[in-house]
Amino acid sequence: MLEKDEHEMNPAEHLSVPFGDLRRQAATLQADLAAAAQRVIQSGWYVLGSEVAAFEQEFAAACGVAHCVGVASGADALYLALAALGIGAGDEVITVANACTYQADAIIQTGALPVLVDIDPTTHTLDPAQLAQAITPRTRAIMPVHLYGRLADMTAITAIAEQAGIPVIEDAAQAHGAWRTDAAGNPRYAGAWGTLAGFSFYPTKNLGAVGDGGAVVTNDASLAEQLRRLRQYGWDRKYVVSAHGGRNSRLDELQAALLRVMLPHLPHRNATRRQLAAQYQAGLAATPLGLPPDEAGHVYHLYVVVAESHTEREQLREYLRQHGIGCDVHYPMPAHLQPIYSAWRSANQPWLRPQGAGSLPHTEQLAQRILSLPLYPELTPAEMDRVIAVVRGFYSG
Ligand SMILES: *Cc1c(COP(=O)(O)O)cnc(C)c1O
Repeated sequence: MLEKDEHEMNPAEHLSVPFGDLRRQAATLQADLAAAAQRVIQSGWYVLGSEVAAFEQEFAAACGVAHCVGVASGADALYLALAALGIGAGDEVITVANACTYQADAIIQTGALPVLVDIDPTTHTLDPAQLAQAITPRTRAIMPVHLYGRLADMTAITAIAEQAGIPVIEDAAQAHGAWRTDAAGNPRYAGAWGTLAGFSFYPTKNLGAVGDGGAVVTNDASLAEQLRRLRQYGWDRKYVVSAHGGRNSRLDELQAALLRVMLPHLPHRNATRRQLAAQYQAGLAATPLGLPPDEAGHVYHLYVVVAESHTEREQLREYLRQHGIGCDVHYPMPAHLQPIYSAWRSANQPWLRPQGAGSLPHTEQLAQRILSLPLYPELTPAEMDRVIAVVRGFYSG
């Protein structure tokens, strides 16, 4: 019976680890969140009031920019940033295909054409060399994505953009608090590199609300003014429409108040994510998995490993599932292979470019081989050990 007793004394052997668990963050901030919610409910002012104004100031300061405009979601933030620049039919916007369809959809909504370029296979972000080749006289914006919490190569991208006189819109939905050193040697945050940047406060993001939310940040006062019109029907003042392309996309007071509770916790929560990533790095070094190259300003929204083949990824995924370890793929289907866009392949007016398999090799190959492991600040040491042990077990078994 000795064996059985030993088993019972080692519960970690059977520990299941969820891919995410938002209740854990909520539990640590419970009292402050409840007080903030109550403050808003009792105020009787629920849309575009003092909480949103205060959060906008606090988040702009956290990013190191002058202006922040709260909106309803990250997807809207990207659309509104494009609309603020007056981008529309006949224009082209360069972006990537490996970060779901948020970017291409936002561009299509303006009437412009998404031009997709391949990624750097090491960083999974927009390849500056591909960017330079994709610029045409119709290019009106460049939208790199700071995927998984790592800034794209913004030094190279902004240099190319400046030379061509094209604005950059950062998709910073996965990169709150991420940074990179600029040409002058100073750290510069996600959101402070482009003409505009879009953030999402979807609950699972590094800074997440208790519902949907988003923001556009910029150093340009007139673009900020235009965004304030666009997020509210295009109104210049109440019931007077002056801006084209507006919609109802307001961050609400409740979400803003809750985000104000969470924002001061972002730096130490990001630091914890980095510590956990370092543990994975050490624990998985002996496996054949490709691990994310570390960088000081990477905030590990996701910890994404790369299997040697699609078959191996699928087998590892199933093995983790059987052992109770949550995992996911971000993202399984590149934008240019989505059925909604390929259905339009034969039309004279394509919805995006390029189309069809084989056109973006790194993007397509990585979509087959990537796997996201659990990584959030509330993961316990026992859970981290368990994930590492199971992944190692897959390769040694
Ligand atoms: C989450 C996300 C978005 C969209 O944000 P929502 O708030 O969900 O609309 C856009 N881009 C990237 C890279 C994201 O991860």
